Amino acid sequence: AKTPVTLLGLGAMGTALARAWLAAGHPLTVWNRTAARAEALAAEGATVAPDAAAAVAANDLVIVCLLDDASVGAALDGVDLTGKDVVDLTTTTPAQARARAASVTSRGARHLDGGIMAVPPMIGVPEAGGYVFYSGSPELFETYRHVLAVPAGTRFVGSDPGHAALHDVALLSAMYGMFAGVAHAFALIRKEDVDPVAFAPLLSEWISAMAGPHVTRTADQLKSGDYTTNVVSNLGMQTAGTPTFLSTARGQGVSPELLAPYFDLMRRRLAEGSPEEDLTGVVDLLLR
Ligand code: NDP
Repeated sequence: AKTPVTLLGLGAMGTALARAWLAAGHPLTVWNRTAARAEALAAEGATVAPDAAAAVAANDLVIVCLLDDASVGAALDGVDLTGKDVVDLTTTTPAQARARAASVTSRGARHLDGGIMAVPPMIGVPEAGGYVFYSGSPELFETYRHVLAVPAGTRFVGSDPGHAALHDVALLSAMYGMFAGVAHAFALIRKEDVDPVAFAPLLSEWISAMAGPHVTRTADQLKSGDYTTNVVSNLGMQTAGTPTFLSTARGQGVSPELLAPYFDLMRRRLAEGSPEEDLTGVVDLLLR
C-alpha cells in the first residue's frame, strides 16, 4: 500500500502537489483554510478534513504548503504534533525555517524544511526537471524520500533546517542578477534596428557559455583562497574595460543603474587587491 499523506494548503502549489500524490495512488487527506478550494480534489479522491487538527491527526506524514511562515504558525496553532513527521514546503527565510523546526520538534514531531525549485505546472512532471531542496531531519528524509520524490526531484542539503531555504534563495538571487543583465542587454539594442527575437538566441547562448566556467572558477577560488586567475581577462583588464560599457549605455540612452554597482565593486577590489585576480574578491566585499 502507498504511504498516506496529509497536505495542509491548497493554493496553486498545494493543489499541484495534491494531484501528483493522488495520481500516484497515495491516500491523501487535505485541509485548506478556504474550504471551497478542496472541492475539486474531493471529487478526485482526496479526503477533506474539517480543520487542520483533523488533517494532521489522520496521517503520520504531514506536508505543509502555505503562503508564508506566519500562515504555517496560524495553521499549526494548537494542533497536536506528537509523533508527526512535518515537512514544510512553504517558502521562508533560513531563520524562519530554523525557528519553525525548533518549535515543531519541541512539540514532539520531526521536521524537514523544503524549498521548491519549480512552478506548479512542473509538479508531477519529472521530465520538467523541477526539484525541492530539503534540509533538517535526515531520518525523516530517508523514511519518506520515495513519497517526497513523487511530485518533484529531491535534493537533501544537510541537517541544518535553514539550509534548504538558503539554497533556494541563493539560486533565485543569482537568477535575478542574471535577469538584471538580460534587461540591460535588451535595453542597449532597443532603440536600434536590432530584432530582439534574432538577438535572443545569441544572448541565451552567451549566458549559458559564461555561467558554468565562471561559477566553477569562483567556487574553486573561494575554497583555495587563491583568487589569482588563470584566464586572460583578469580584474585589472576587466576593470579597465568598464568605461566602454558605461559610455555605450550613455550613448544608447540606457541607464547604467543595474550594471554600475557591480563595476563599483570591481574597482574597489582592484584598489585593495591585485590586478592578477579573478572577480572572486567581489564576494568578500559583499560580506562586509
Ligand atoms: P497561493 O497564494 O496560491 O496559496 C496560498 C495558500 O496559503 C492558500 O492555501 C491559502 O489559503 C493559504 N493561507 C494564506 N494565509 C493563510 C493563513 N493565515 N492561515 C492558513 N492558510 C493561509 O500560493 P502557492 O500555493 O502558489 O504557494 C504556496 C507556497 O509555495 C508559498 O510559500 C510559495 O512561495 C511556494 N512556492 C510557490 C511557487 C509558485 O510558483 N506558485 C513556486 C515555488 C514555491 P486560502 O485558500 O484560504 O487563502
